[in-house]
Amino acid sequence: MTLEAVTKSYLNLKKANININEIRHLFITHKHIDHILGIFWVLRVLGSKIAKNKANNLTIYASKNVIKIIKNISSIFLKNKVLNLFDNKIIFIPINNEKEINLGNWKLKPFNLQSEKEEQFGFRIEFKDKKSFVCLGDEPYKKTLNKLLFMF
Ligand SMILES: [Zn+2]
Repeated sequence: MTLEAVTKSYLNLKKANININEIRHLFITHKHIDHILGIFWVLRVLGSKIAKNKANNLTIYASKNVIKIIKNISSIFLKNKVLNLFDNKIIFIPINNEKEINLGNWKLKPFNLQSEKEEQFGFRIEFKDKKSFVCLGDEPYKKTLNKLLFMF
């Protein structure tokens, strides 16, 4: 699981010693350039490995609008061998507010961050031991989110 495709994602993965082949799920909070540009590097590198069956399939979670942008820009910059994997081995899942997603032992629950500037989603991952991890994107925190975040 990787949290955001920030601009230097690919370099950051190397720095953190994370093998790009291990990424199976990718969550994008919103369409600002510093949160979305890294996806194209990940798609380029991981996509060519998936095309050669050297990496697992990838699932990308984002709003409908962000998925559209990723597909449009990919069609300009990425090779057909990667584009052909779209909706096949690279799956795009549009986020519907609060619809829970099952990630094996983890549960991913997205929620709308109620941003006034740009539609933005955060999420909560609940682990098997009931501990959880919350991502709030880059939006100033709103108290109205409390009921979603402290519900467990
Ligand atoms: Zn932003």
